[in-house]
Amino acid sequence: MSGLPTARPAVFSVPPYVGGESRLDGVNRVIKLSSNEGAFGPPPGAIAALTEVAAIAHRYPDGGATSLRAAIGRRFCLDPARIVCGNGSDDLIALLIQSYGGPGTELVMSRHGFLIYEIAARLAGMNVRKAPERNLTADIDAMLAEVTPATRLVFLANPNNPTGSLVPASDVSRLRAELPPDVLLVLDAAYAEYVERADYDPGVELVDSGQNTVMTRTFSKMFGLGGVRLGWAYAPLAIVDVLNRTRMPFNVSGPAAAAGIAALDEPGWVERCRNHNTRARTELAARIERAGFRVWPSEANFLLADLETADRAAAADTHLRSRGIIVRQVAAYGLPQCLRITIGTDEECSTVADALDDFGQNHG
Ligand code: PMP
Repeated sequence: MSGLPTARPAVFSVPPYVGGESRLDGVNRVIKLSSNEGAFGPPPGAIAALTEVAAIAHRYPDGGATSLRAAIGRRFCLDPARIVCGNGSDDLIALLIQSYGGPGTELVMSRHGFLIYEIAARLAGMNVRKAPERNLTADIDAMLAEVTPATRLVFLANPNNPTGSLVPASDVSRLRAELPPDVLLVLDAAYAEYVERADYDPGVELVDSGQNTVMTRTFSKMFGLGGVRLGWAYAPLAIVDVLNRTRMPFNVSGPAAAAGIAALDEPGWVERCRNHNTRARTELAARIERAGFRVWPSEANFLLADLETADRAAAADTHLRSRGIIVRQVAAYGLPQCLRITIGTDEECSTVADALDDFGQNHG
């Protein structure tokens, strides 16, 4: 015995999280396309709201995020009583895992699903079962095959990060229908605002029609507020009650709530961002393909370019960095041969396309 405090062994089963870099040595103006942030920054109304609330930064915020929940309810036609807000959707994901999982239980996700599910589950002492995918898309039958009596939670990011793939609403419904009723299905719709497909349901219908489904959403992507940390969950009342017991009292700061309300009210923001994203994504995908690289279809605000080998992806990454561009080689997701590239402004997209073109000609 060393006599020193020792953390639970589960804590050491996860590496410390390393976020996307925002600086490159010797580069003044970095083009950061590594964290799927909104292309246009925060909505102007949110910037004004943040400035305004600075003067009351000494006050604790409303611990129930009442006005924010009302604003989300109005915007998305949802009952505010069934909404819980959090310090980013990561906060809510971790709370769901802590509340419904625990040592010896299991979480099911797809092979290249969002990494935070695995990190939070391991910290909670859970086992993680990853289902094989088909064409980098979650395979519902394979996920169902991973469910055992120890399964407490099933996570599906739809669209998924880092693949950008979407599971059709009918398949998501089938997943829910075939799950045991005591297994919680979490539908992570962080990229919902970008989806154009008419048959898409981010999860609202399934939350409304059952007791074992939660939808999580974020202000970090289209609403441009990744830096203030704001997410929300829509859930049956019994799950709302659980989250309200397990969350910290002030897990949404006053500035985050004010910025979120203003962002929801920004006229034309969603339409402008979505239209830009769809057009710029199509154009960038075509340019990357012309440069000689495969691109996976994406419904989100990023593209996954497949460079075929990890070495080639690393070389492309180095080349982009030499041009001041930061993208993400997604080795941590088991895809070291791929670069995930956020859809930025037109200028940023054309700069990254030029750089990949150049890489293709010289190193292809
Ligand atoms: N879910 C998915 C699928 C994501 O890609 C992200 C952010 N990368 C999150 C959740 C977490 O977002 P935040 O905590 O910023 O709300």
